[in-house]
Amino acid sequence: MARKRTLEDELRLKAYLIEATLHEKEYVPSFPKEFALCVFCWGHISGRAQEYSEGFHDEESQDWICPDCFEKYAAYFAWKVIPMKGKTFAEFLAEEEELEVPII
Ligand SMILES: [Zn+2]
Repeated sequence: MARKRTLEDELRLKAYLIEATLHEKEYVPSFPKEFALCVFCWGHISGRAQEYSEGFHDEESQDWICPDCFEKYAAYFAWKVIPMKGKTFAEFLAEEEELEVPII
């Protein structure tokens, strides 16, 4: 029987996620990817009934983290969160650029 992963295991196996910047956003299913899997608990993020519709996404690794695991691990991984508020990543980036102070 597989041994349950400890917090130390998770920190070692997912060291690339330490201090990662995560985007809190809705998962938009698109064929053939109807759902995303949480990298910690393998729970579905899909928007279907009984499943999460929102999660925390790392653009670099393309990993998703469900809200439960986010709560559980956020303090240890020291994640920075950017709320997307229903925007797509492209829209979000465009808005970020607009906010930049113009060089005179
Ligand atoms: Zn999870």
